[in-house]
Amino acid sequence: MRKIEFFHHSIDDKDRERVTSVLKSIFLTTGKEVEEFEQKFSRYIGLRHTVGLTSCTAALHLSLIALGIGQGDEVITTPMSFCATANAVLHAGAKPIFVDVEEETGNVNASLIESAITERTRAIIPVHLYGQMCDMRTIHEIAQRYNLRIIEDAAHAIEASRDAVKVGQLSNSVCFSFYATKNITSGEGGALSANDESFAASIRMLRLHGINRDAADRYTGRYRHWDMSLLGWKYNMDNVQGALLIGQLERIEDLWKRRDMLWKTYEEELQSIKDVKPLKTVAHARHARHLFTILVPHRRRDALLWALQDRGIGVAVNYRPIHLLSYYRETFGYNEGAFPVAEEIGKSTISLPLYPSLEQKDIQYISKVLKEELSK
Ligand SMILES: *Cc1c(COP(=O)(O)O)cnc(C)c1O
Repeated sequence: MRKIEFFHHSIDDKDRERVTSVLKSIFLTTGKEVEEFEQKFSRYIGLRHTVGLTSCTAALHLSLIALGIGQGDEVITTPMSFCATANAVLHAGAKPIFVDVEEETGNVNASLIESAITERTRAIIPVHLYGQMCDMRTIHEIAQRYNLRIIEDAAHAIEASRDAVKVGQLSNSVCFSFYATKNITSGEGGALSANDESFAASIRMLRLHGINRDAADRYTGRYRHWDMSLLGWKYNMDNVQGALLIGQLERIEDLWKRRDMLWKTYEEELQSIKDVKPLKTVAHARHARHLFTILVPHRRRDALLWALQDRGIGVAVNYRPIHLLSYYRETFGYNEGAFPVAEEIGKSTISLPLYPSLEQKDIQYISKVLKEELSK
C-alpha cells in the first residue's frame, strides 16, 4: 500500500553538516549559531530584534510577562488554535477570553473583538490560522483605541502578509514555532521578533533565569561574576537548534513556492468533490501555506479520518476548539454552543499532507481516495 506521511521535514545534507560541526565543537548551548539565526531571522521578518527560544509557547509566555500582563488581566484570543495559545495566557497568570472565528477562514472574527473588551482587558493574541493572517489592520485599530497590547501567534505564518502588512509589523511581539511539523523546524524550538529594543532585552534576560549574561559571555574571556536581577525561566534556544534552522531559513522562499504550487494542485483536484470544502484564501494576502485543511460534513468526519489512514494517508485535526478541551470545560465551565463557528470547524475539519517533498501524484491519490470514500 502507498504510504503518504502527514509531514516530512526538509532538512538536507548541508543542515546536517552544520549540526555536525556544532557537535564537534565544545559549545552546544546558546552561542554563535543562535546569534546567526537570530540576525538572519530578523532580516527575513523585517523587524529589529529576534530572540531564539525553546518553543512558541515560551515566546507567548515571555511576551506576556515582559509586557507586564498577569494576575487579574484578561487577554482576548481565539478558541480555534492549538491549546498552547491559551495555555500561555494561563501560565502568565491571566485569563484567556475567547472570541469566535470567521466561517470562511477560521481566523478570529475581528468584528467580535470589541464586545469582548472589559476594563481588565490588556492584550489581544491573534493566531494566523493555517498560515493566513488575521485582519491585522482592524485588530491594530481596536488595540490603539483601547490601549491594548498585541502579541501575534505566527506559529503557522512566518512567510505571511496581508493588506501590505507582514507578520509582526502591527504588534508588540510576534511569536514563532519550530516544532517538528512547522514550516521550518528544529524538532523543538521557537522565537519571537519585535522592534522595541528594551522589550527584546527583557526577553533575553527572561529566557535565562533573569541572569544578565548568557553562557557564551560567561564562557569566553576572563571569569566575571554574573548576577540574577529578576526571576526568569529556562527558555533559551541552543546552538544545535540554531544550526538546524539557519539553512532552512535560507531556503524558506523556495520551500514556500513548492507548497504554494502543491496547494494549487489540491484546489484543482478537490474542486469537483461536492462534500469537500477548502478554506478560503482572502484577497490581497500572501498565505504561508502551512496546513491544507478541508471541511467535510461532520457526520462523516471521523470515519473519513480513519479511512484515509487505512489507505496510507497521514491526517490531522487542526483543531478541536480549545474551550471544549476537558481542562477548559472544567476550569471555566464552557459548554457546547459557546463559540458555534469554531465548534463547527472543529467538527468538520481534516488537515491533509502538505510539505515540499510531497508530490503531485500523491495529491492525485489523496483526492481519488477522498472521492471514493465520500461516494460510499
Ligand atoms: C505549534 C503551535 C504552537 C506551539 O508551538 P510550540 O513551539 O510547540 O510551543 C502555538 N500556536 C500554534 C497555532 C501552533 O500551531
